[in-house]
Amino acid sequence: MMKKYYIAVTYEVCEHNKIYLDMNEYQLDSSRDFDTQIRDLAKVDVAPVIKVYESETSDFKNFVLYKEYKFKEYECGCEGSQF
Ligand SMILES: [Zn+2]
Repeated sequence: MMKKYYIAVTYEVCEHNKIYLDMNEYQLDSSRDFDTQIRDLAKVDVAPVIKVYESETSDFKNFVLYKEYKFKEYECGCEGSQF
């Protein structure tokens, strides 16, 4: 079986202020449980959304979205009122 590579990208999201920014990119260790790694990254970056991308090459020239995680506890608390 071909080895696959995974990166996780953390996103800052505010629906009220139309913000959807990628923050950081992390290599995932495919020998460890993804959910645990993703939860740790979400906590570090306080990220409400993390997307995991899969590639067959380490340079990520071609990649596909593998899975999207959402963390309600890290969603912004604003109501769009500080405009
Ligand atoms: Zn907000």
